[in-house]
Amino acid sequence: MNAVDAPDNAQGRSVRPVEEVFRRVFGAHPEGVWAAPGRVNLIGEHTDYNDGFALPIAIPQHTLVAAKRRRDGRLRLHSEQGEGPVIDLAVADLVPGAVTTWGAYPAGVVWALREAGYETGGADLHIDSTVPTGAGLSSSAALECAVAFAYDDLYGLGLTPAALALIAQRAENGFVGVPCGVMDQMASACCAEGQALHLDIRAGAHEHVPFAPGAEGLRLLVVDTRVKHDLGDGAYAALRAGCERAARLLGLAALRDLAPEDLPRAGRLLPASLVPLVRHVVTENARVTEAVSHLRAGRVAALGPIISAGHASLRDDYAISCAETDLVVDTALEHGALGARMTGGGFGGSVIVLVAEERASAVGTAVTGAFRTAGYQEPHLFEVSPAPGARRIA
Ligand code: ADP
Ligand code: MG
Repeated sequence: MNAVDAPDNAQGRSVRPVEEVFRRVFGAHPEGVWAAPGRVNLIGEHTDYNDGFALPIAIPQHTLVAAKRRRDGRLRLHSEQGEGPVIDLAVADLVPGAVTTWGAYPAGVVWALREAGYETGGADLHIDSTVPTGAGLSSSAALECAVAFAYDDLYGLGLTPAALALIAQRAENGFVGVPCGVMDQMASACCAEGQALHLDIRAGAHEHVPFAPGAEGLRLLVVDTRVKHDLGDGAYAALRAGCERAARLLGLAALRDLAPEDLPRAGRLLPASLVPLVRHVVTENARVTEAVSHLRAGRVAALGPIISAGHASLRDDYAISCAETDLVVDTALEHGALGARMTGGGFGGSVIVLVAEERASAVGTAVTGAFRTAGYQEPHLFEVSPAPGARRIA
């Protein structure tokens, strides 16, 4: 058995099964099928809500939505992964708090579009995803973006991918009630095959930067630790509030405005508890800038130490790593990986590992063995390469 699964070839995935389930559930043929990917973030964690920078790629795992408009104002939702029967809602009655199950993600998108003034009506939606949920690979943004892209086409809204990402974030913030930044939704909506996405959140700007580890004899592995600590959601909000408080105390619009050379002075002005948070955000923004300049010069391997430094910062300063993610990172580095870090919000989830092709299998075996020795659940390891962003596929 291979320690690392081969790349998911989901890009070539047939749409027929989702069309067939749609027909069985809703009794008609869908008008189309849309796809939106999950993501891993190469570097730039917890920087989006600080107006900073990030560098995600889309992964081949993605969410499909088969959709058909309805004229009666009903929104009917069915998911292969969602609990329970078909959810049936009146679009006109959508208000935050009205939906408390998984249906809040797609319903939130319809709510956010209407809040933004787009006169959209009902639809039947069937969802099927290969993005594992709660693994830090952003199944939530994949679901939101797939629905947003479907609605944009079906109702002829003509919104840009970036505008749809903002709608998707508004759905998660305002309707689901998760105070996330916009990185996940931008990655799902705007990424391109073979490219990383350099995000400047304050400027609302994004640009593609070539990222082809395979061409350099490298592999990017994802290790899903299958750990999700429940303290995650409240802790995320507390971290975000801490950053916003630090910016206020420093008289800045956001921590984006603090340069690395100003850290010592900021450290003297702030309560001690906020100093590590600020240090993570400021050094992490600098790491994104450095990583982008390496990628532009074709030096993919140079990302290794930057990725590992990002993990140390999340572990020591932001304090959102956990024993399982640390074990993956330490084991991978001990066995010759160029760099490794947790990716996503923290408290579990997935780790990315940049490794030379000839070391990939040994690293995978070592990580799996270390988990067995520690008595942890078996992790899921797979290789990824930068996949396309959200789009219509049928
Ligand atoms: P992540 O985005 O890292 O996967 P989140 O906690 O942000 O984790 O989002 C996971 C939630 O999104 C799930 O618990 C579920 O409510 C919803 N979700 C994601 N994908 C699907 C899907 N295919 N079907 C139903 N619900 C989904
Ligand atoms: Mg999410």
